[in-house]
Amino acid sequence: MRIVGLTGGIGSGKSTVSNLFKAHGIPVVDADVVARNVLKKGTGGWRKVVAAFGNEILLPSGEVDRPKLGQIVFNDPDKRQLLNREVYFLDVETVTKLLAPYISTGILLEVFKLWMKGCKTITLDVPLLFEANMDKWTKPIIVVWVDPQTQLERLMSRDGTTAEEANSRINAQMPLDLKKTKTDIVIDNSGSLDDLNKRFREALADVKRPLTWAEFGLCR
Ligand code: ATP
Repeated sequence: MRIVGLTGGIGSGKSTVSNLFKAHGIPVVDADVVARNVLKKGTGGWRKVVAAFGNEILLPSGEVDRPKLGQIVFNDPDKRQLLNREVYFLDVETVTKLLAPYISTGILLEVFKLWMKGCKTITLDVPLLFEANMDKWTKPIIVVWVDPQTQLERLMSRDGTTAEEANSRINAQMPLDLKKTKTDIVIDNSGSLDDLNKRFREALADVKRPLTWAEFGLCR
């Protein structure tokens, strides 16, 4: 089974590329979906957060109050805006430390289910692929890259945020240019959707190429 790693920066176009994989019949395991599930009431991740932050982190419904969690995590009111997305995006160190085992297990479970169904190639869409050391599981790794100005504009337009908020979210992540140096394939998504489609097809040809023995052993 081949597990392709898909990552990039916030708003760089991972979900858009992920949809292209699905359109080509390659299933995608979405780490954001797994990350949302591991914080659901009563799960191991939920218990971990409650143990770390106390009951005051919970909403009356018993679900984790994500904005509040972020407030505590950052202890910086200016960064609260970071919280209106998934907790998984918020603070790499804290969230990775607290929840990584649950997220990794959840992802592996999804991979296992697809393997049981006979899928030969699957894609892991993991925004924090490198930060969470999941890059070791995947070959090839694809980074969806976008130039900084376009990234900022797309983020502001998609989420209706100010430049300051968008920049703060971008800067909370590992620099996209650094991710670019750690990858096998870079898809430059600075152009139109037609350009992206073309680049995706080129990348797909590389994904379908047979693995060498070194790659087969995931030797890095
Ligand atoms: P996040 O990390 O926040 O989940 P993402 O990396 O998944 O973001 P997308 O949501 O796929 O990024 O893309 C960000 C925004 O940019 C979306 O509104 C998407 O429709 C738009 N977009 C992506 N690629 C292009 C493109 N080539 N041309 C124009 N708009 C694009």
